[in-house]
Amino acid sequence: MPFARCYMCKNACGIITSVEGKNVRVAPNKDHPQPGICGRGAAGPYLLSHPDRLKSPLIRQGDTLVPTTWDKALDTVVKYLKELLDQGHPEYLAITFHDYGKELLERFSALYGTPNLIGHESVCHGPRTVASELVLGTEGPRSVDPDYPNSKFVVFIGRNPLEGIVPDIVRRIDEGRKKGLKIAVIDPRKSAIAERYAERWVPIRPGTDTAFLLGVIYYMIRNEMYDKDFLVKYTNAPLLVYEDDLTPTGIYSQQLLEEKSLNGRKAITVFSLLEKEGEKVYPRLQQITGVGYDDVKYIAENLWSNRPASVIDDGWHTSFSNDSTYTWMAAFTINAMLGNIDKKGGLIIAKKAKVKLYDKSNVKAQRIDKIRYPLTYAAFQEVYRAILTGSPYPIKALMVIGTNLDGRDPDSEFVRRALKAVDFLAVVDVMPSDVTEYADVVLAESTYLERDELPLPVGWTLDNWVDIHQKTIDPLYDTRPLWWIMLELEHRLGLSSSTFKDLEEMALKQLNVSKEELAQKGALRIEEEVYEVYPYKKPFKTPSGRVEIYSDTLRRAGYYPIPTYIEKNIMPRANDEFFLTTGHTLYHTQDSITFDIPTLVKLAPDNPVMISKNKASQLGINDGDEVEVISLTTGQRVRCKVKVSKGIRDDTVFAYFGFGRHARGERFAYGHGFDVNSLISEQITDPVSGSIAQSLNIVKIRTLK
Ligand code: SF4
Repeated sequence: MPFARCYMCKNACGIITSVEGKNVRVAPNKDHPQPGICGRGAAGPYLLSHPDRLKSPLIRQGDTLVPTTWDKALDTVVKYLKELLDQGHPEYLAITFHDYGKELLERFSALYGTPNLIGHESVCHGPRTVASELVLGTEGPRSVDPDYPNSKFVVFIGRNPLEGIVPDIVRRIDEGRKKGLKIAVIDPRKSAIAERYAERWVPIRPGTDTAFLLGVIYYMIRNEMYDKDFLVKYTNAPLLVYEDDLTPTGIYSQQLLEEKSLNGRKAITVFSLLEKEGEKVYPRLQQITGVGYDDVKYIAENLWSNRPASVIDDGWHTSFSNDSTYTWMAAFTINAMLGNIDKKGGLIIAKKAKVKLYDKSNVKAQRIDKIRYPLTYAAFQEVYRAILTGSPYPIKALMVIGTNLDGRDPDSEFVRRALKAVDFLAVVDVMPSDVTEYADVVLAESTYLERDELPLPVGWTLDNWVDIHQKTIDPLYDTRPLWWIMLELEHRLGLSSSTFKDLEEMALKQLNVSKEELAQKGALRIEEEVYEVYPYKKPFKTPSGRVEIYSDTLRRAGYYPIPTYIEKNIMPRANDEFFLTTGHTLYHTQDSITFDIPTLVKLAPDNPVMISKNKASQLGINDGDEVEVISLTTGQRVRCKVKVSKGIRDDTVFAYFGFGRHARGERFAYGHGFDVNSLISEQITDPVSGSIAQSLNIVKIRTLK
């Protein structure tokens, strides 16, 4: 039976597949460290016979896409990309994706010479990832994670693992709960995890998480709830900086809280500066966040009394506010104050291998989003802007790999204008979606059941595992795997003559495993210590090798160097105005692959806007009523149903994203729900990470009676 990864979302859980008669079956691989399978995964085999699936490459003829040969489709893409190369501007090509295919796309971008491989992170984990790079020297959400099974107290901020699901993370949380793990959730909405698992729900005002966490920091400092030894030895909390311009003195004090004169200037420790940031917000905490001092006390005291087996979760969907990078810097700072880093039950730096499939990069230009946001992980809205304005340089060609930009990116009107305006658009996907409607060429990808993949590190483990993905059946239609498509483009552009086998060998060598062993077991653990490695045996990969509560990288880029709360002027100002918040449904990803599956459509057919019971009764709205929702930031309006709930703040509404598909090629998804992205502006961002402040949009609700 083939060992495989489920690719119904980007988590790539371990599954085994089998063929019974005409049916392909999928089941969790119990020997895999991250076994599947969730509802979306169970629906996967339906893709094989899906009537809407892309069955061959397509090419634009006037207003329609018509089937074509692989030669013609690839030659059309190559002709356009060659023109950009001949003009000396490979950077005019942007490529976007959603985690899947990263290694192949990094290779292609490097060989071709475009820096503009930019993912989805500005609407997802961008802020926590920039914070994690700055403070801990780590990367995305898979590079650091709580040790849930051994934790005693975990705080989730806006994250809802029961719907933004990875089955194994839920299993690990459940394992912890069986041993007494307590959970607190900070979220304007009583999400599934707040409802079902939490001892405490902190219904915070949207966009104010940084103020709340600075309040927790202040309370902890004032009550001497911090691990002095850890902070002095392994963080830059005792670093003295000049107070006038916050430049570092290079001197570490023996005291954590100290102010003194140095070279005739006032110098202050980073920890004292942090205390001052807390002091700025603490007296107004209730007014800013809408929650109480009792919540601060509860979180701080439970974290402290359970240390080091207590942790603030490192977040996932985190692009909420205009200071979200500081939210996550504050969260990592609190974890460091607890001394929980790499401790059993604390916050673990995942011990993972990496795969890089190229040696030399031909990239010369600066990545387009880094011109405006030098520290961003990804700010794809800058690509749309460059398409529409030609500034700071033009983007003329776009390749979209397995992601539906309409469902993914806010400000739908802006997104659609850019997709219509771009000179050349190529889409690689298994299913049609809104974005294929704009394509010049569609390269039809085989489903994950019909293709082999490279060996890769397993995503959501704390220790170092490698797994394999084997195809179950040969492709049923004229489709190809992504690796074949990218290698074929490389060959036709004269960039390489590499084969899949070459790439596979490269990956196996870096992962330090043999193909035979992998093929026998499906997944292999590479022996490495998990606990107490960073910073006890190895330094953090930050410039100082310490946890950087103060970041000189931030200061040099022109930003405030320690977590600070940015005051908001965005607020509902009338009885029918609300903060709009969004999140993940259990049954779909915002990408292309799940929305058109009839069983999943049945389970989650639409996305009613959730409003509090109290506000609904004030406005005379009943559960199931149809209303008009008008965005005060984008000016767009939609009609949708209402879900009345006790589990949401009075000043906030909530809706699931990804709905409101407008591509007629998705016959089951078409017309279900509304496009929440049309109500969210791409103009309000976190200036550090370049992420879109998705919770700082105000909508008006109008009844239609
Ligand atoms: S979370 Fe579900 S859909 Fe995603 S890879 Fe795992 S089993 Fe598949």
